[in-house]
Amino acid sequence: MNNKIVIVGCGNVGMSYAYTLINQRTKVTDLILIDINQDKTRGEAMDLNHGLAFAPSKIKIRVGDYNDCADAQIVCLCAGANQAPGESRLDLVQKNYDIFKGIVQSVVNSGFKGLFLIATNPVDIMTYFTFKISGFPSSKVIGTGTTLDTARLRFLISERLKINSKNIHGYILGEHGDSEFPSWSNSSVGAVEIPRFLSRGELDIMTDKVRSAAQEIIKAKGATYYGIGMVLARLTNAILDDENSIFTVSSYNQNSDLYIGYPTIIGKSGVVGYVPLTLNDEEKKAFDNSARIIKETISKVNQE
Ligand code: NAD
Repeated sequence: MNNKIVIVGCGNVGMSYAYTLINQRTKVTDLILIDINQDKTRGEAMDLNHGLAFAPSKIKIRVGDYNDCADAQIVCLCAGANQAPGESRLDLVQKNYDIFKGIVQSVVNSGFKGLFLIATNPVDIMTYFTFKISGFPSSKVIGTGTTLDTARLRFLISERLKINSKNIHGYILGEHGDSEFPSWSNSSVGAVEIPRFLSRGELDIMTDKVRSAAQEIIKAKGATYYGIGMVLARLTNAILDDENSIFTVSSYNQNSDLYIGYPTIIGKSGVVGYVPLTLNDEEKKAFDNSARIIKETISKVNQE
């Protein structure tokens, strides 16, 4: 079985994704790199290929073009501008929309029938535009959403309680951005609710730390990429293995016609279902606020 993945945008995020994939057991058989910077992409392909002798899975890596998308399982979009220090994810929207218009059209023109996986920020909005431009069913267009933020939350709680993050369950919901929020009423350590372990004050500090994590990393080292690379690799393997696992990806919300971070079941065909969460009043308000911000930002984009 040919499991071809195409990465469009071979910068920090795209290459962290590629590097993570080739260092894990994966069903990916072919990894194709596309970027406007052809020289850099050639160098990246060479560099990755030289490590293949030590990779756990057999995989072919090469530079490609949009024709390669025709028989790909997943096209992952990581192209575009990233945040400068102090810049919000929403500030990137027009720049990245203009870049995406051409890319998504080229992928569709190839005859691509697989899944779009989007990491470019602002990710909820770029995922929505990929859905609109491509005309694909919403189940085949998935953004990374708040998957990374949820992983950051699990890490912080795990550090505080000294319990493996795999046993920390909970979700960051909403916009992958400043209005994201944790649903404490749906969070647990093992089967025990998290608010029984931590005070409201501690929970609020953790929320702030998750929200400001990206800015803190950008200030310290210029960009964030390893974490999101691991998220993309995890989602890829969940898709190829038809896992039906739950992630807070950015998925389509039909009621509001937008993409937003929400616990979503991911399998081989993309989105196969949603987790029916009950949010308390405070969480419902926070979710609606996030949705409003996403909607307002979409409406400001010049789609000419
Ligand atoms: P980067 O500048 O390192 O890489 C971007 C790449 O896109 C560059 O190699 C550039 O040449 C390429 N590119 C630009 N226009 C293109 C086009 N038209 N066609 C093909 N390639 C093109 O940036 P990065 O650090 O890799 O970040 C990429 C995106 O990922 C940013 O929008 C960033 O904000 C986002 N990001 C998202 C998350 C998340 O959780 N979803 C986390 C980190 C970063």
